[in-house]
Amino acid sequence: MKAIIVRAFGGPEVLRLEEAPDPRPGPGEVLVSVKAVGVNPVEAYLRSGSYPRRPDLPFTPGTDAAGLVSAVGSGVAVLKPGQRVYVYGAKAGVYAQKAVAEVSRVFPLPDTLSFEQGAAVGVPFGTAHRALFHHGKAKKGQTVLIHGASGGVGTAAVQLARAAGLTVIGTAGGPEGVAFVKALGADQALDHRTAGYLSGLAPDLIVEMLANVNLPEDLRVCALRGRIVIVGSRGEVTIDPRAAMTKDITIQGMTLWNMPDEDRALVHADLGRGFESGALAPVIGRSFPLAEAAKAHEAVMSPGARGKIVLIP
Ligand code: NAP
Repeated sequence: MKAIIVRAFGGPEVLRLEEAPDPRPGPGEVLVSVKAVGVNPVEAYLRSGSYPRRPDLPFTPGTDAAGLVSAVGSGVAVLKPGQRVYVYGAKAGVYAQKAVAEVSRVFPLPDTLSFEQGAAVGVPFGTAHRALFHHGKAKKGQTVLIHGASGGVGTAAVQLARAAGLTVIGTAGGPEGVAFVKALGADQALDHRTAGYLSGLAPDLIVEMLANVNLPEDLRVCALRGRIVIVGSRGEVTIDPRAAMTKDITIQGMTLWNMPDEDRALVHADLGRGFESGALAPVIGRSFPLAEAAKAHEAVMSPGARGKIVLIP
């Protein structure tokens, strides 16, 4: 099969398409013929070698994929060859034509979703769900500020929050980003490139995609007893702890990889209901051939997100 292989940490150009051995499913595992791959920012951090966790070289990047079951290992009864599925976390990276994953990480792909949309579920929707409902304790009637609503996680968070009956304020860059977030269904959309754009807000919950830039201002606007869930950060920031103290604000960090297996099953069951009802529908911004993974990495680290970036093997 063809797969992207990283042999040295570096810029996007280290993502090279190579011939790799076909993987085979062992007991309890599923072989998937990959039709679409989701590109997440963390894959760019890992590729560059700048992330605290460094994979052993060489490696194939990628966590999210969708495709067709090609074969199942012994003991797998819940999935059958030919079935449409999405994968969240295979044994090796999924920037490839084939992937093997434990059966607990392979989920039926609802008929309502394309393969591209299926590749946009695992990390983005899993993270948004976990941030809103587990860490953020979002409840119907509350107001959530989704800081970075135009990207993979943000678009998922807008849909999930709306479906749960929250009032949704989303931010994006520039007038086009604002129009995009409004069209997604946010009650209010704001341009995070404009000075003072958060003035007058008092959200109960903030889902934060760029904490190193926004955390001090988040603390200023967050409501009494509010929660700030840090999903993304790309550096350090200075805050005044008294700003959290005086309003009993909870600052909660999160990483999706820390979610226990039993929670993962519940989250994906809930997401499946949302996809089937039509309340949730992953938004695909751009797609690239697998061979152009380098261009996809440049795009995912550039401003102007419009939903998810996918690769087609
Ligand atoms: P993405 O698709 O590239 O989207 C990035 C988002 O950040 C866009 O909405 C972008 O808006 C927005 N942004 C840019 N400047 C901003 C600012 N000053 N204030 C607020 N938002 C700003 O990335 P993603 O997949 O949604 O992931 C978002 C972040 O969360 C990334 O840093 C990623 O690494 C992290 N993440 C963490 C976890 C976890 O487990 N903790 C899981 C998934 C992702 P414009 O492009 O419109 O300017």
